[in-house]
Amino acid sequence: MNIVLLGAPGSGKGTQAKALGQRLGLLHVASGDLFRHHLGLKTLLGELAGSYMVRGELVPDDVTIRMIAERLAEADAAGGVLLDGFPRTAAQAAALDAMLAVLGQTADGAVLIDVPDAVIITRISGRLVCPTCQTPYHRSLLAGDTCPADGALLERRADDAPEKVGRRLEIYHEQIGPVLSHYRATGRLHEVPGEGSVAEISAAVAGAIDRIRQGR
Ligand code: ADP
Repeated sequence: MNIVLLGAPGSGKGTQAKALGQRLGLLHVASGDLFRHHLGLKTLLGELAGSYMVRGELVPDDVTIRMIAERLAEADAAGGVLLDGFPRTAAQAAALDAMLAVLGQTADGAVLIDVPDAVIITRISGRLVCPTCQTPYHRSLLAGDTCPADGALLERRADDAPEKVGRRLEIYHEQIGPVLSHYRATGRLHEVPGEGSVAEISAAVAGAIDRIRQGR
Protein backbone atom coordinates (compact mmCIF):
# COMPACT_ATOMS: atom_id res chain seq x y z
CA MET A 1 0.00 0.00 0.00
CA ASN A 2 1.29 3.48 -0.91
CA ILE A 3 -0.23 6.49 0.81
CA VAL A 4 0.25 10.19 0.16
CA LEU A 5 -0.05 12.65 3.06
CA LEU A 6 -1.09 16.13 1.97
CA GLY A 7 -1.18 19.32 4.00
CA ALA A 8 0.35 22.77 4.36
CA PRO A 9 3.85 23.24 5.74
CA GLY A 10 3.40 22.90 9.50
CA SER A 11 0.16 20.90 9.21
CA GLY A 12 1.75 18.02 11.11
CA LYS A 13 2.39 15.70 8.16
CA GLY A 14 5.92 14.88 9.33
CA THR A 15 4.87 14.11 12.91
CA GLN A 16 2.01 11.90 11.72
CA ALA A 17 4.08 10.18 9.04
CA LYS A 18 6.81 9.22 11.50
CA ALA A 19 4.35 7.71 13.97
CA LEU A 20 2.05 6.02 11.43
CA GLY A 21 4.81 4.73 9.15
CA GLN A 22 6.17 2.62 12.00
CA ARG A 23 2.72 1.48 13.09
CA LEU A 24 1.61 0.49 9.59
CA GLY A 25 4.93 -0.93 8.45
CA LEU A 26 5.25 1.65 5.66
CA LEU A 27 8.50 3.40 4.81
CA HIS A 28 8.32 7.14 5.56
CA VAL A 29 9.61 9.06 2.53
CA ALA A 30 9.79 12.82 3.18
CA SER A 31 10.90 14.99 0.27
CA GLY A 32 12.08 17.79 2.59
CA ASP A 33 14.17 15.34 4.67
CA LEU A 34 15.71 13.92 1.47
CA PHE A 35 16.60 17.42 0.27
CA ARG A 36 18.08 18.33 3.68
CA HIS A 37 20.07 15.06 3.61
CA HIS A 38 21.57 16.00 0.22
CA LEU A 39 22.17 19.53 1.48
CA GLY A 40 24.10 18.17 4.49
CA LEU A 41 26.22 15.96 2.22
CA LYS A 42 26.80 18.95 -0.09
CA THR A 43 25.87 16.92 -3.19
CA LEU A 44 25.09 18.77 -6.43
CA LEU A 45 21.40 18.04 -5.89
CA GLY A 46 21.69 19.40 -2.35
CA GLU A 47 23.27 22.65 -3.49
CA LEU A 48 20.67 23.15 -6.18
CA ALA A 49 17.76 22.36 -3.84
CA GLY A 50 19.23 24.50 -1.05
CA SER A 51 19.09 27.64 -3.17
CA TYR A 52 15.28 27.24 -3.42
CA MET A 53 14.73 25.95 0.11
CA VAL A 54 16.31 28.95 1.86
CA ARG A 55 13.85 31.19 0.03
CA GLY A 56 10.90 28.95 0.91
CA GLU A 57 10.33 28.29 -2.83
CA LEU A 58 9.63 24.89 -4.38
CA VAL A 59 12.54 22.99 -5.91
CA PRO A 60 11.85 22.55 -9.68
CA ASP A 61 9.60 19.59 -10.56
CA ASP A 62 12.13 17.71 -12.73
CA VAL A 63 14.74 17.64 -9.94
CA THR A 64 12.21 16.68 -7.26
CA ILE A 65 10.56 13.99 -9.38
CA ARG A 66 13.91 12.39 -10.24
CA MET A 67 14.94 12.30 -6.57
CA ILE A 68 11.66 10.63 -5.49
CA ALA A 69 11.70 8.16 -8.40
CA GLU A 70 15.19 7.05 -7.36
CA ARG A 71 14.14 6.68 -3.73
CA LEU A 72 11.01 4.66 -4.58
CA ALA A 73 13.03 2.30 -6.77
CA GLU A 74 15.17 1.26 -3.77
CA ALA A 75 14.48 -2.16 -2.25
CA ASP A 76 13.19 -0.90 1.13
CA ALA A 77 10.36 1.01 -0.60
CA ALA A 78 8.89 -2.10 -2.24
CA GLY A 79 6.76 -2.95 0.83
CA GLY A 80 4.83 0.33 0.62
CA VAL A 81 5.52 3.97 1.45
CA LEU A 82 3.97 6.86 3.29
CA LEU A 83 4.88 9.92 1.22
CA ASP A 84 5.24 13.22 3.07
CA GLY A 85 5.79 16.46 1.12
CA PHE A 86 5.44 14.88 -2.31
CA PRO A 87 3.50 15.43 -4.56
CA ARG A 88 3.14 19.19 -4.13
CA THR A 89 2.24 20.11 -7.74
CA ALA A 90 -0.06 18.62 -10.40
CA ALA A 91 2.99 17.55 -12.45
CA GLN A 92 4.42 15.74 -9.41
CA ALA A 93 1.09 13.97 -8.77
CA ALA A 94 0.95 12.71 -12.37
CA ALA A 95 4.63 11.69 -12.21
CA LEU A 96 4.01 9.74 -9.00
CA ASP A 97 1.27 7.64 -10.63
CA ALA A 98 3.59 6.98 -13.57
CA MET A 99 6.65 6.03 -11.48
CA LEU A 100 4.61 3.69 -9.28
CA ALA A 101 3.04 2.09 -12.37
CA VAL A 102 6.55 1.29 -13.64
CA LEU A 103 7.16 -0.49 -10.32
CA GLY A 104 3.86 -2.38 -10.66
CA GLN A 105 2.28 -0.32 -7.86
CA THR A 106 -0.28 2.43 -7.32
CA ALA A 107 -0.83 5.42 -5.03
CA ASP A 108 -3.77 3.89 -3.16
CA GLY A 109 -5.00 7.05 -1.51
CA ALA A 110 -4.19 10.58 -0.38
CA VAL A 111 -4.97 11.92 3.09
CA LEU A 112 -5.27 15.70 3.44
CA ILE A 113 -4.56 17.03 6.94
CA ASP A 114 -6.56 20.23 6.92
CA VAL A 115 -5.35 23.04 9.21
CA PRO A 116 -6.29 26.77 9.07
CA ASP A 117 -3.43 29.13 8.19
CA ALA A 118 -3.62 30.97 11.53
CA VAL A 119 -2.94 27.72 13.40
CA ILE A 120 -0.06 26.89 11.03
CA ILE A 121 1.64 30.21 11.72
CA THR A 122 1.52 29.65 15.50
CA ARG A 123 2.84 26.12 15.11
CA ILE A 124 5.73 26.97 12.82
CA SER A 125 6.82 29.91 14.94
CA GLY A 126 7.49 27.45 17.80
CA ARG A 127 8.84 24.56 15.75
CA LEU A 128 12.26 23.07 16.55
CA VAL A 129 13.76 20.14 14.64
CA CYS A 130 16.31 17.52 15.68
CA PRO A 131 19.31 17.70 13.29
CA THR A 132 20.02 13.99 13.90
CA CYS A 133 16.64 12.22 13.61
CA GLN A 134 14.66 15.06 11.89
CA THR A 135 11.82 14.76 14.42
CA PRO A 136 9.92 18.05 14.76
CA TYR A 137 8.91 19.39 18.21
CA HIS A 138 7.07 22.45 19.50
CA ARG A 139 8.77 24.74 22.04
CA SER A 140 5.67 24.81 24.23
CA LEU A 141 5.65 21.00 24.63
CA LEU A 142 9.33 20.62 25.56
CA ALA A 143 11.12 21.01 28.88
CA GLY A 144 14.57 21.77 27.41
CA ASP A 145 16.22 22.42 24.08
CA THR A 146 17.54 18.93 23.31
CA CYS A 147 15.94 16.00 21.45
CA PRO A 148 14.21 13.61 23.91
CA ALA A 149 15.09 10.70 21.56
CA ASP A 150 18.82 11.24 21.03
CA GLY A 151 19.93 14.29 23.04
CA ALA A 152 20.97 16.42 20.04
CA LEU A 153 20.59 20.19 20.39
CA LEU A 154 17.36 21.13 18.56
CA GLU A 155 17.49 23.70 15.78
CA ARG A 156 15.13 26.10 14.07
CA ARG A 157 14.96 25.51 10.32
CA ALA A 158 16.09 28.54 8.28
CA ASP A 159 12.82 28.40 6.31
CA ASP A 160 10.76 28.51 9.53
CA ALA A 161 11.73 32.18 9.99
CA PRO A 162 8.48 34.20 10.18
CA GLU A 163 9.20 36.13 6.96
CA LYS A 164 9.53 32.84 5.02
CA VAL A 165 6.42 31.15 6.40
CA GLY A 166 3.95 33.50 4.67
CA ARG A 167 5.55 32.81 1.30
CA ARG A 168 5.50 29.04 1.88
CA LEU A 169 1.78 29.14 2.70
CA GLU A 170 1.09 31.28 -0.37
CA ILE A 171 2.89 28.73 -2.60
CA TYR A 172 1.04 25.87 -0.90
CA HIS A 173 -2.36 27.45 -1.66
CA GLU A 174 -1.32 28.23 -5.24
CA GLN A 175 -0.22 24.66 -5.97
CA ILE A 176 -2.39 22.35 -3.91
CA GLY A 177 -5.74 22.85 -5.75
CA PRO A 178 -4.80 20.78 -8.82
CA VAL A 179 -3.18 18.12 -6.60
CA LEU A 180 -6.40 17.75 -4.62
CA SER A 181 -8.39 17.61 -7.87
CA HIS A 182 -6.06 14.89 -9.16
CA TYR A 183 -6.90 12.62 -6.22
CA ARG A 184 -10.53 13.70 -5.84
CA ALA A 185 -11.28 12.98 -9.51
CA THR A 186 -10.06 9.41 -9.05
CA GLY A 187 -11.87 8.85 -5.73
CA ARG A 188 -8.61 8.73 -3.79
CA LEU A 189 -8.90 11.86 -1.62
CA HIS A 190 -9.64 11.55 2.12
CA GLU A 191 -9.79 14.70 4.26
CA VAL A 192 -9.23 14.84 8.01
CA PRO A 193 -9.31 17.88 10.32
CA GLY A 194 -5.78 18.68 11.52
CA GLU A 195 -6.58 20.56 14.75
CA GLY A 196 -6.37 18.81 18.11
CA SER A 197 -3.77 16.69 19.86
CA VAL A 198 -1.19 14.66 17.95
CA ALA A 199 -2.98 11.50 19.15
CA GLU A 200 -6.40 12.70 17.95
CA ILE A 201 -5.07 13.58 14.52
CA SER A 202 -3.19 10.25 14.36
CA ALA A 203 -6.45 8.43 15.04
CA ALA A 204 -8.21 10.37 12.27
CA VAL A 205 -5.42 9.73 9.76
CA ALA A 206 -5.28 6.04 10.73
CA GLY A 207 -9.06 5.87 10.17
CA ALA A 208 -8.67 7.36 6.69
CA ILE A 209 -5.89 4.86 5.89
CA ASP A 210 -8.17 2.02 7.04
CA ARG A 211 -10.84 3.25 4.63
CA ILE A 212 -8.23 3.34 1.85
CA ARG A 213 -7.12 -0.19 2.71
CA GLN A 214 -10.70 -1.44 2.58
CA GLY A 215 -11.29 0.40 -0.70
CA ARG A 216 -14.03 2.65 0.69
P1 ADP B 1 7.37 21.99 4.86
O1 ADP B 1 6.33 20.95 4.52
O2 ADP B 1 7.28 22.42 6.28
O3 ADP B 1 7.46 23.10 3.86
P2 ADP B 1 9.44 20.22 3.98
O4 ADP B 1 10.51 19.69 4.85
O5 ADP B 1 8.44 19.27 3.41
O6 ADP B 1 8.77 21.34 4.82
O7 ADP B 1 10.09 21.00 2.73
C1 ADP B 1 11.12 21.95 2.90
C2 ADP B 1 11.47 22.56 1.55
O8 ADP B 1 11.94 21.53 0.65
C3 ADP B 1 10.31 23.20 0.78
O9 ADP B 1 10.07 24.53 1.20
C4 ADP B 1 10.83 23.13 -0.65
O10 ADP B 1 11.82 24.11 -0.91
C5 ADP B 1 11.50 21.77 -0.69
N1 ADP B 1 10.55 20.72 -1.08
C6 ADP B 1 10.09 19.69 -0.31
N2 ADP B 1 9.24 18.91 -1.00
C7 ADP B 1 9.14 19.44 -2.24
C8 ADP B 1 8.40 19.12 -3.42
N3 ADP B 1 7.59 18.04 -3.44
N4 ADP B 1 8.56 19.90 -4.51
C9 ADP B 1 9.37 20.95 -4.50
N5 ADP B 1 10.08 21.34 -3.43
C10 ADP B 1 9.98 20.61 -2.30
